[in-house]
Order: sequence, then structure tokens, then C-alpha cells
Amino acid sequence: MANHANNRPRLIVGNWKMNGSLAANAALLDALAQAPAAGCARVVCPPFPYLAQAATLLAGSEVALGAQNCGHAAAGAYTGEVAAPMLAELGCRYVIVGHSERRAMFGDDDARVAAKTALAFEHGLTPILCVGETLAQYEAGQATAVIDGQLDAVLGTLDAGRIDRLVIAYEPIWAIGTGRSASAEQVDAALERIAAAVARHAASARPQLLYGGSVTAATAQWLAPLARVDGVLVGGASLQAEAFLAIEQAFAAAGQTARG
Ligand code: PEP
Repeated sequence: MANHANNRPRLIVGNWKMNGSLAANAALLDALAQAPAAGCARVVCPPFPYLAQAATLLAGSEVALGAQNCGHAAAGAYTGEVAAPMLAELGCRYVIVGHSERRAMFGDDDARVAAKTALAFEHGLTPILCVGETLAQYEAGQATAVIDGQLDAVLGTLDAGRIDRLVIAYEPIWAIGTGRSASAEQVDAALERIAAAVARHAASARPQLLYGGSVTAATAQWLAPLARVDGVLVGGASLQAEAFLAIEQAFAAAGQTARG
């Protein structure tokens, strides 16, 4: 099956959420920076206050820096917010937008996620757009409608070139931080539907499609060979270098066999 992302390296993204300390970060970042490249793109997204520390410790390494969120405006009277150009200035290459925790707890509705996505692109960042349904929506057979709605709100504001450079993470909310991963069939079907939604907006675009939700070294063993999975967004397991690197290793190994 064709690689959905035009042979770009598969992406292993760590979302640290609101975790870390200067000392713990230093140990984790050193381990990630020193681990030999495995043929995947390795990305870490620490909390805002630690981005400068991470940029310093990752300088010269293969590990890319990302942020977990950005403001919906480029500057101004938005107390507590952090703007996309600030992230770019600090050395970020990626920014997560529309994470379900932001949508559920911080009022990030579709319009705001679209604004953040546009700002990310304008300031040279690659947005990692998260979409996904709740367990109730899944059980009610509404997953496709929910995800299509989340995608249409953003994709409808982007040209084909930006859609092609977007990263889209399918993160079923019922699988995030629960230890209950979606199955291979569920992941494959969801990513197929996401690719179809993308095609309705830009037929030639091939954004990278990630899966996120309780990814571990064990689940990576069966996720990695799935041809539609261009990488993973990892929460809990990204806080330990060994676990995070084991996930990357699984993808690197599958890439060398299944994808050539
Ligand atoms: C996430 O925060 O995006 C996530 C997928 O978390 P976890 O891996 O802990 O489920």
C-alpha cells in the first residue's frame, strides 16, 4: 500500500503534557539527543517554560522541538497565552493544535483550532492537528461525523499546499491516557476515513497521518506495520526515554521491512 505521506520519514512525537522539571527534562532530553538516529523523525513537545531548555539541549541533534499549543492570535492582550511566532523564535518546528484536552478543558472549538493552524503555518511551524471522538460518540456510531466536522473546519481554511504539509493525528478520546488502545482495524479504518476527508478538500494532498492513544512499545509492534500509519503521537510513554525510543525502534524496523 502506498505511503500516504510521500515517503517522508515516519513521525514519533512525544507530548509531555503538563509534566517535567529542569532536572528530569535534562536527563530525558540528553538520552533522546544521544540515541542513534533510527530513520524516523523524533519530536518532543515539552511544556512552554521548558522550550528554551529543550532547544539548548537538543541543539545539533536529530530531535525536533514542538509545542503543545499556541495562541489564536499572533500577539496582543491575551494574558497567559503563547503565540506561534514566539514558538518559532525558540526553535520549535511543530505545534500540536486541537488536542482533545484543549478542546474539552480550554475552550478550543473548531474555529479556534483553525485559527491556530493558520497561525502555525504563517510562522513556519508544522501543525499537528488532533481529531477524535469520545467513547459515547463512538458507541453511537457518530465517530465519522465528529471527525469529519473537526477536519472540515480546518481543511476548509487551508490551500492544498498547506493541507499536504499538515500532520493529522487520530486520537480517539477513549484511548488517551486510558491504557485502552484502538485496535489495528479501528486505526486503519479511521485513517482511511481521514484520508477520504482530506481528498474531498485537496485530492493530491498527502498529509502525514498519526495515531495517538495509549501507544506503548508493545502496541507500536502492531501499529508500525500498518501502511496508513505515518507515525504516532505519544503521551505517557514519551516521558521515559527507553519507552519512547522503543516505540521509534518498532517503527524503524517496520519501515525497513514493510516499506522498503
Ligand atoms: C496524547 O496526549 O496525545 C496521548 C495520546 O496520550 P497517551 O499516549 O498517554 O494516551
